Amino acid sequence: MTMKIAVLPGDGIGVEIMAEAVKVLDCLHSGFGLDIETEQGLVGGAGYDTHGKPLPDETLQLAKDADAVMLGAVGGYKWESLDIAVRPEKGLLGLRAELELFANLRPAILYPQLAGASTLKPEVVSGLDLMIVRELTGGIYFGQPRGVRIRDDGQREGFNTLVYSESEIERIGRVAFDIAMKRDRRLCSVDKANVLECTELWREVMESVAKDYPDVELSHMYVDNAAMQLVRAPKQFDVMVTTNMFGDILSDCAAMLTGSIGMLPSASLDANGKGMYEPIHGSAPDIAGQNKANPLATILSVAMMLRYTFDETDVAQRIENAVGAVLDKGIRTVDIWSEGMQEVGTTEMGDAVVAALREAK
Ligand code: NAD
Repeated sequence: MTMKIAVLPGDGIGVEIMAEAVKVLDCLHSGFGLDIETEQGLVGGAGYDTHGKPLPDETLQLAKDADAVMLGAVGGYKWESLDIAVRPEKGLLGLRAELELFANLRPAILYPQLAGASTLKPEVVSGLDLMIVRELTGGIYFGQPRGVRIRDDGQREGFNTLVYSESEIERIGRVAFDIAMKRDRRLCSVDKANVLECTELWREVMESVAKDYPDVELSHMYVDNAAMQLVRAPKQFDVMVTTNMFGDILSDCAAMLTGSIGMLPSASLDANGKGMYEPIHGSAPDIAGQNKANPLATILSVAMMLRYTFDETDVAQRIENAVGAVLDKGIRTVDIWSEGMQEVGTTEMGDAVVAALREAK
């Protein structure tokens, strides 16, 4: 099967880190016989500069025609004063909406070699490997009615609506259960069912989906407790599934347990497993063009793409192992460097991963 991948580097370090991810894709093509076809497109500030829009029509078409999208990062000082409708970030939001990417997968993985990078004690976080599945297109961020109105007594009041239909809950539930099946088969659904009727329904629907997944152990946790448990004993979790807003907050909290923004990949999936894969960090204009950016989050996004869109679990694991092997050798970009380690630049790090991939073949 040909894997058609739209490659959208974007802005700032997006261009540099994506070049390293492409090296990995080339290696998989030439060394592992995967039938990979890539085509590049402009997005974000780069799209605006060339076509006057952060999501040019040809880029959207490229993304729609592809089986998966690899995205670098968008944004930068140069475009900060633009009208909000054409800011680089709109390119990203446009892709999520147009491709109907409703499931956001945010792993928080802390390689034992980097345990010192976390602000938590190494024994609490070393070897952490959890996945947060966040609903991305519904809930309180999109619910109607919303706004600010004037009350009868003349005061202004702000209001938003938390709303989820059964089918929305079921489809994110199924994504999370499927992922749990590919991991340790433990799923924790996070809600606030003691206070919010909407998440009482969430809990009920999760229970009914669970009947189709007898091998997965489903548990429930209130979001306030989940926040506490994430910092107290994060290794208790395998997969967590939650609403848009709870997931927004908990996934950032989980990411920071690892302490290294340059290491974390992410995926956003549609109902058919098509996905957009990207590092969680931004375009880092402060270090752009200096060969300093850590490309590992983007390379690990390639691994996620192979696992979740193309079902190539073995190849995905090989990429993750190659990253582990590079860290074992003490090779570090500056953001994860510590005493006694060998500091390298973006391109050298990409080369080291490719070499480790070839060595382990
Ligand atoms: P950022 O993630 O770009 O950078 C935060 C800090 O982390 C910076 O000091 C940066 O140098 C460092 N950093 C980030 N990625 C790194 C990497 N791979 N290797 C080494 N260091 C890394 O966040 P920011 O500074 O708040 O935003 C910069 C721009 O990126 C803004 O225009 C913002 O809108 C945009 N942004 C884009 C995305 C995205 O494309 N998904 C996400 C967040 C921010």
